Amino acid sequence: MQIKIQLDESEIPRQWYNLAADLPTPMLPPLGPDGQPVKPEMLAPVFPMNIIEQEVSTERWITIPEEVLEILYRWRPSPLYRARALEKALGTPARIYYKNEGVSPAGSHKPNTAVAQAWYNKQFGIKKITTETGAGQWGSALSFACALLGLECKVFMVRISFEQKPFRRLMMETWGGKCIASPSQETQAGRAVLAEHPETPGSLAIAISEAVEAAVTDPTGQTRYSLGSVLNHVMLHQTIIGLEAKKQLAKAGEKKVDVVIGCAGGGSNFAGISFPFVCDKIHGADITIIPAEPSSCPTLTRGPFTYDYGDMSGMTPLLPMHTLGHAFIPPPIHAGGLRYHGMAPLVSQAAIEGLIEPRAYHQLECYRAAVLFARTEGFIPAPETSHAIAAAIDEANKAKEEGKEKVILFNWSGHGLMDLVGYDKFFRGLLEDYPLPEDMLRDSLKAIEPLPKAKPVKSGKW
Ligand SMILES: *Cc1c(COP(=O)(O)O)cnc(C)c1O
Repeated sequence: MQIKIQLDESEIPRQWYNLAADLPTPMLPPLGPDGQPVKPEMLAPVFPMNIIEQEVSTERWITIPEEVLEILYRWRPSPLYRARALEKALGTPARIYYKNEGVSPAGSHKPNTAVAQAWYNKQFGIKKITTETGAGQWGSALSFACALLGLECKVFMVRISFEQKPFRRLMMETWGGKCIASPSQETQAGRAVLAEHPETPGSLAIAISEAVEAAVTDPTGQTRYSLGSVLNHVMLHQTIIGLEAKKQLAKAGEKKVDVVIGCAGGGSNFAGISFPFVCDKIHGADITIIPAEPSSCPTLTRGPFTYDYGDMSGMTPLLPMHTLGHAFIPPPIHAGGLRYHGMAPLVSQAAIEGLIEPRAYHQLECYRAAVLFARTEGFIPAPETSHAIAAAIDEANKAKEEGKEKVILFNWSGHGLMDLVGYDKFFRGLLEDYPLPEDMLRDSLKAIEPLPKAKPVKSGKW
């Protein structure tokens, strides 16, 4: 009986899967400030053209460049584990499998796209990449990728995290990334905020503005910006997770998977594990596919589907997505990577179609699930990942009630070794649940009332 199912490097998927090719209704286009669809050229100062081409592609399979694979081999194919100890603790007849993305150098799934994005930028002649980071997961993944590809990396890190969470910053610096506290004196956006609020803790909105400004104002034209989730090309790069998992489940002797789960912040690790299975579902398979999100930031379960900005300051094009409103300030839960107001347009459209069934979980239930996981399987999960674990436990308990031998697959998106302060607070009873009050949601949605509406279109098949 295998506990971990490994693939040989020669068995790694050679192409990414693009869900846009199979969705029964075409995706709505992103819109510019004038309400007209954005043309690819308009994005050229921000992203390299080869990435923009992927962003708008409807090709089903896109070849992974050999040089990208050569870097991914450092930790890929990632192992698929059978969670026997967790199954035993739950007394479930279900067979639970998890894909361990915590084995990457940065400790999460994020390097899968960071490496690809850095490579495409380099191909295009770009020398330097800018980005923003909150808690530091994305900034560290991109710093790692840039180190391996010989690119400069500049990360604007929200000041409060910069000061309170030195370890992710130190990871970035170890990989040669330049991490600076945002707002900074280096950009107009940063200087303007500092002039008015010298003591500001910063915010992701300001950090994004600074990172985009730093990219588009570089007089050499050799700097671009990079985003770690939400956009189509990021979902694409993550599908290697689900494509590997499919081969591994077959190796484990599983003929069918019943439930596929991922936690969802901007949607990328969920898309990564699930989109290859969403494809099977479109073609007739009977699979329950669950994005698990925090009930304090319930984008898919309570946010309407409409056009909204990807960032809080309205610098990005308008994206058709489930959103809580770009001005939404989520409660301070520890799953920092899930505190995002929007959801990837591809994930949102899959939800509109009824191909996926979103669920929201409270923080305390997630920490209980994480601790049970750590005390049975051993690995300590990131607070984000704990949402997927809570959903997997729910499904395993349901299988027990029904007496069914279900096969459950979930994505273990990252380890929590840099997030132990959250565990400490949980053990000391200092954490609470933050169900989002209806009036807060209504207030937050007021900011998007003047924006164009996206009409949800579905085929009605699911
Ligand atoms: C960033 C992050 C997430 C959330 O981002 P998605 O784009 O929704 O995947 C989840 N888990 C971990 C470990 C992360 O670092």
